[in-house]
Amino acid sequence: MSARIIDGTFIASQIRQSVSPGVAAFTARAGRPPCLGIVLVGEDPASGTYVRNKVKAGTESGLHVDLRRLSSSASLDELLAVVRELNASDRHDGILVQAPLPAALGRGAAQQVFDTIDPAKDVDGFSPVSVGRLVQGRALLAPCTPSGVIEMLDRCGITMSGARAVVIGRSEIVGKPMAMLLLQRDATVTVCHSKTPDLPGVGRDADILVAAIGRAGFVTRDFVKPGATVIDVGINRVTDASTAEGLFGASSARMADFAKRGSLVVGDVHPNVAEVAGALTPVPGGVGPLTIAMLLKNTLAAAEARAKSS
Ligand code: NAD
Repeated sequence: MSARIIDGTFIASQIRQSVSPGVAAFTARAGRPPCLGIVLVGEDPASGTYVRNKVKAGTESGLHVDLRRLSSSASLDELLAVVRELNASDRHDGILVQAPLPAALGRGAAQQVFDTIDPAKDVDGFSPVSVGRLVQGRALLAPCTPSGVIEMLDRCGITMSGARAVVIGRSEIVGKPMAMLLLQRDATVTVCHSKTPDLPGVGRDADILVAAIGRAGFVTRDFVKPGATVIDVGINRVTDASTAEGLFGASSARMADFAKRGSLVVGDVHPNVAEVAGALTPVPGGVGPLTIAMLLKNTLAAAEARAKSS
């Protein structure tokens, strides 16, 4: 069997197209486009790329994107002051603080940011109010990556109701909200993590297997029931030739790419899973583009909800 490869780039473009008329209608009604404030702290190259992509996608969809950059030496107080300014601004509908924050800001920094963002503008869905609403099944703004996965499953006609879903990873930003959203769609959900015994055995129970771990090629074919849908959330940069070769084989097109660039972006799912899965998301070109599309959708939803309540 060779898995159907789910084209996340195409699905994301469909979602982005569906957002554009709403953005145009809001702009005509409000006399201004929906506005997304993005805060980037420091010089992390991967974060810089993600933010560039978000600014480009937002602008192309007709949003106003206000990018605020803080130097890597900025203090947590300075960062929280920017968040409070965006909270108070009438013009800003959504606020996103790009993760990860510089380690120098301290361990609890991200949580303090989530605690400070106005839930009405929380387009990442990480504030305690947003998380509480998500758990109660009444999210206004759900986290972008897991809600993108749900859109993807819907648009691919993959049934969640009654399915056995296994989520590997229990982070606040992917694993936990992913499990909640699958539960709300009537899947029977198991959440696994680094202390779960016999992960391959648990994975083999899944009709829908979501990998959100952050380890290149960790989920091999032994984790997968034949015909299962496998969603690979992982984004890992491999810089070691022997690791890349172990994943893709010496004479693969991906290795030619590696030779050219000196690195590869790979998922948490090993390429040999394509031999057993029924459907599989690639990396890159799978879940990643959906995350940005859902950010645009959330920004429009936040703008519309704020306009209604004002
Ligand atoms: P995280 O480090 O916060 O969480 C990783 C989770 O994996 C933890 O819950 C941990 O218990 C679990 N884990 C780690 N090692 C394990 C092991 N050996 N066995 C079982 N479980 C294990 O990471 P995160 O923020 O949830 O991100 C996970 C991956 O998804 C990363 O590669 C990240 O880059 C990627 N990501 C992608 C997108 C996207 O848009 N596609 C968005 C967010 C995160």
